[in-house]
Amino acid sequence: MTLRLRNLSLSYGDFAAISGVDLEIKQGTTLAVLGASGSGKSTLLRAVAGLEPSRGEILWGDEALHRLPTHRRGVGFVFQDHALFPQRNVLENVRFGLETPRYNRTDAAKKASALLDRVGLAGFEERQTHELSGGERQRVALARALAPAPRVLLLDEPYGALDRELRERLMLDVREILRESGVTVIHVTHDHDEAFALGDKVAILNAGEISQCATPSEVWGHPCDLATARFLGHTSSLRAEKVRAEGSSSSSVLNLATALGDFAIPYENAPTDGSFDTECCVTWRPESLRPESLRAESLRAESLRAGSLNGSIEVGASLDQRGRPLLWVDGTVVESSFRHGHYLLSLETAAGRVEGISSESVSRDQRLTLALNLNEVRAYAL
Ligand code: ADP
Ligand code: MG
Repeated sequence: MTLRLRNLSLSYGDFAAISGVDLEIKQGTTLAVLGASGSGKSTLLRAVAGLEPSRGEILWGDEALHRLPTHRRGVGFVFQDHALFPQRNVLENVRFGLETPRYNRTDAAKKASALLDRVGLAGFEERQTHELSGGERQRVALARALAPAPRVLLLDEPYGALDRELRERLMLDVREILRESGVTVIHVTHDHDEAFALGDKVAILNAGEISQCATPSEVWGHPCDLATARFLGHTSSLRAEKVRAEGSSSSSVLNLATALGDFAIPYENAPTDGSFDTECCVTWRPESLRPESLRAESLRAESLRAGSLNGSIEVGASLDQRGRPLLWVDGTVVESSFRHGHYLLSLETAAGRVEGISSESVSRDQRLTLALNLNEVRAYAL
């Protein structure tokens, strides 16, 4: 079975909060929807749950969920603020979803206890909700959502309020619980790590529209357009011109002319239908540009092509020890800040401001030779 959203749109008055959303989620898998704040993530879930009137289709196999009221769609919901019922204890919160004719009170309590056990909260039945930590509340909210055995579970930034370590642990635990339960999940978040770690597929939501939906490694490695690339961390960009493709079908390259000189990137790094033939934009993540001060001289010696721009700034291309093409670039450090175990650098180059990283501390105004890994550079139509 597959959950299909077809041309799903939801407007608040004149404002289209989501429009033309087409997505497919295979039964038992998780789709992570990643988008900035205000991009329409919660709105998308409200549309799927039927909490607001939407246009388009929501299909479970050939069953038209969009024609059904919320309580008959078979969807469970965990909200951002994991709102539990404050006057009820933990067991009563979880049992809430089971108060249907299907279960008598004793069976419901048994099932609720089994669910609490599954989320690691055995023995918490009598606790009041104010006696729980953030992570425990989140588990109760999850057990409550899973209680009625929904076909589809909607998670709205479920770990947003938790500290990093707890979040890491809980999200992997929950992934296991969800896989075991076989539920189909749409998980929306603004957190990149969360989306890429938890989604079997990742969809990028930008201003109410899905720009890309694919496996995490495909989306990470091949953002489909310039806006998506920037959103996914391609913070540096250069204008490029005189684009020309060259080579055989197996090893084609695109030759580009930029303010950092001429260089070639793998053809598949340009996700285009050939629509740009004169001007484009090349982008990269900071980690693709690193100081090569120790090897600068040998890089120069090995250089396949070297030139001089603006008199003093040298550019060149060569291969690294593993045969990957590099472009080397001189730059001056404008800013440096320590992030995740390395220094994030802002650098002034012949092509303006770009970002790179360094494993060692560098000082402001220091001049560096940097190597740009051309296999990681992408080109986009403007
Ligand atoms: P996200 O969850 O990605 O942060 P939302 O789906 O909550 O975004 O909101 C998307 C856009 O819709 C935002 O610009 C928000 O201001 C607007 N919006 C959300 N709810 C309403 C509403 N009830 N009425 C009008 N506009 C709304
Ligand atoms: Mg939201």
